[in-house]
Amino acid sequence: MDSYNSGNPIGLGPRHRKPKRKYVAKLFIFLALLLLPIGGYVIYQYLSSNQQQTAVKSVQSLSEVPVANLDKARVEKWNGITKKVAYLTFEDGPTALTSDILQSLKEQNAKATFFLMGPNINQQANVVRTMSNDGHYIGLHSETHDYDTLYEKKQYVPEMLRVQKQIKQLTGHAPLLTRPPYGSSPSITKSIAKEIERANLRVWDWSIDSMDWYYKDSAKEVAKTVIDRAEDPVEIILLHEQPQTLRALPAIIAGLKKKGYQFSIYDEDFHIPYNFSKYPNL
Ligand SMILES: [Zn+2]
Repeated sequence: MDSYNSGNPIGLGPRHRKPKRKYVAKLFIFLALLLLPIGGYVIYQYLSSNQQQTAVKSVQSLSEVPVANLDKARVEKWNGITKKVAYLTFEDGPTALTSDILQSLKEQNAKATFFLMGPNINQQANVVRTMSNDGHYIGLHSETHDYDTLYEKKQYVPEMLRVQKQIKQLTGHAPLLTRPPYGSSPSITKSIAKEIERANLRVWDWSIDSMDWYYKDSAKEVAKTVIDRAEDPVEIILLHEQPQTLRALPAIIAGLKKKGYQFSIYDEDFHIPYNFSKYPNL
């Protein structure tokens, strides 16, 4: 904005010869020169502050989402006990066991996050709907679960987006959170990370491995592993849809409750970055 070309006639008309008028005219010119830039500056500030407000309202890009301080945001004290948050995250479903897992969670009044695989969804459409209606979070866990395909051949994003579409068709919601098969490190390279960010997807690894893939015959060891390892204010617990995990679930939930944990589901509006590679925007 150029305040000098704003068409204001003050001081720009033909000059008069009379001395008194000459001084008045000079005064007007002086005031005009003084006030116009100030006015212009005020208008400019007003307009740019409006633009900033609009920008805040329309934050879309993942890199603009503020990083949450998980310690302060989620932990609180109640009756002298520090409340902590545990995220139960189940991989590789839906399976023949999913209904039983949902039933067990219901009985113990706990919510969980499920990372589903594309081919399994088609066979268990009703279970996926129940999962959604029960208030669990449904996330993405690829189609192939194959290391070479996902990371060497860079099919991570295309596969996740196809699974996202399947879930949207069933539940009406297109989830953003992905769980990388085998974890994000070293598999998710910088170039894959960029693709993930561009697709507006997010990545969650885990803070506790339940070892349910290792203790195949011992639900007791699975439960013990989880409960012993739970220490931090926020824990993301890796579980698989396996019989030993289903059997361990009541003990896991009871043990964590005893340690002061509440059970939350992943919240897209309150994303906590948690990936082994420490990419801040995933
Ligand atoms: Zn998996």
